[in-house]
Amino acid sequence: MAGEKNMSSARLLGDVVVLGLGRTGEAAARYLASLAPGRVRSVTLYGGASSAEGERTRALEAAGVRVVTGTEEVSGSFDLAVTSPGIPLDAPFARSAAACSRELVGEVELAFRESPERWVAVTGTNGKTTTTSLVTHLLREGGLEASSVGNIGTPPTELVAGRPAGGWLVAELSSFQLAATTSFHPRVAVLLNVTPDHLEWHHTMEAYAAAKERALANLGAADLAVVSVDDDWCRAAARRCEERGLRVCRLSTAGDPGSPCAAFLREGTLVVRLDGAEHVLLDASELKIFGTHNAENALAAAACALELGVADELVRSGLRSFSPIEHRIEPAGEVGGVRYVNDSKATNTDSVEKALTAFPAGTVVLMLGGHDKMTDLSSLASAVCARCRVAVCFGEAGERIAAALEAARAASGSGLAVLRAPHLREAFDAAVASARPGETVLLSPACSSFDEFSNMAERGRLFKRLVRELSGEGA
Ligand code: ADP
Repeated sequence: MAGEKNMSSARLLGDVVVLGLGRTGEAAARYLASLAPGRVRSVTLYGGASSAEGERTRALEAAGVRVVTGTEEVSGSFDLAVTSPGIPLDAPFARSAAACSRELVGEVELAFRESPERWVAVTGTNGKTTTTSLVTHLLREGGLEASSVGNIGTPPTELVAGRPAGGWLVAELSSFQLAATTSFHPRVAVLLNVTPDHLEWHHTMEAYAAAKERALANLGAADLAVVSVDDDWCRAAARRCEERGLRVCRLSTAGDPGSPCAAFLREGTLVVRLDGAEHVLLDASELKIFGTHNAENALAAAACALELGVADELVRSGLRSFSPIEHRIEPAGEVGGVRYVNDSKATNTDSVEKALTAFPAGTVVLMLGGHDKMTDLSSLASAVCARCRVAVCFGEAGERIAAALEAARAASGSGLAVLRAPHLREAFDAAVASARPGETVLLSPACSSFDEFSNMAERGRLFKRLVRELSGEGA
């Protein structure tokens, strides 16, 4: 490994072009500029069509970066192009950069090549942020240095230069980031689930699943792949890894997968088996993060930590102390015996179905709606009919969801009450008026927020403010 590092440190990068003026592009450009003049001859950053000069571009120029704004037509001749996750690889911006560069890679690939030791990769459609944070938490509990990077917020190139000896980078990777990797090779990689999402970017489920599977592409016999066997796409990926002779920790909340490496629930207890040796951890009810999906996230994170040498007792204490992250089944208060829970991060139907498993059936008043992604609603509608007493549908997608719920209700004979409201605020009032003591009002919208908010965090914060106002009025 040390040899590998020396080789990469010695590599000349030449003339480099960076795409995107977000945090990722800026981090990559700054890191590359710090390597000039020794390994980098020049750094040029293209901000994209809507970018303009400002404080940010001036600061980059002061650091030695040539900045080009207002265009996506890259011109010149470069040894390397480094792209940011928001830019589709088949979009004209990336294509024009690729045409005038010897190679185009993502920022994660660049960070990996610069510092290839001790990476953990976490990917999947849902649960990435929770699992990434939990892996970092468990490694730190075990006395290791660890930082969460990638999709979670901090671009890995920000940390590469100052990385402590022995420190781990735990990377949350989106399909966009993985699509732009080639040699990325973590010591442990987690694939949590693959369900339909982002098809506007990847076009087909096959392409989307293949991008996710790139996290596993370069694993070797000494590494560990932690792969769910609870959905068809992941099961197929697990089989392909096994055929390559990899150690695959089969992840399941449905029962013991029976393989030499496995992470699963045995009568509610989290169990991880590595090379035949069992680690019986704790009961899922001892976790502060609720729902079957969170038991799955905890199992995956525990498997990573145990594989990297954290002792069972420290994995247990770390699992017990880990609290929900903001906007992910986050308790938002209790008023008049009704619990309020903010799951604004649930922007697709699968996450809502999973969130519903965190509450007893028949006790949920669910608020859902927002920007309509036009995904199929049949599975969501049956889950809502089976588990909720009331559903309040709001926003652009509200009517389509309400109609799907009413159709599912007629077919199932469920007693679900379906209410409609124009926006989140009115939906909240309707939910408050319907909820009975002992029940939970859950914002788990199944949609993105762009019809009413700039992002899911703003939506979650409004929900929490409405709960605070309600409790003020009630006091
Ligand atoms: P991501 O970073 O992949 O978006 P998060 O950890 O932020 O994932 O969780 C987002 C939402 O996805 C949560 O609010 C929850 O409803 C749902 N979720 C979390 N973990 C899982 C999982 N393992 N399987 C399915 N859904 C999940």
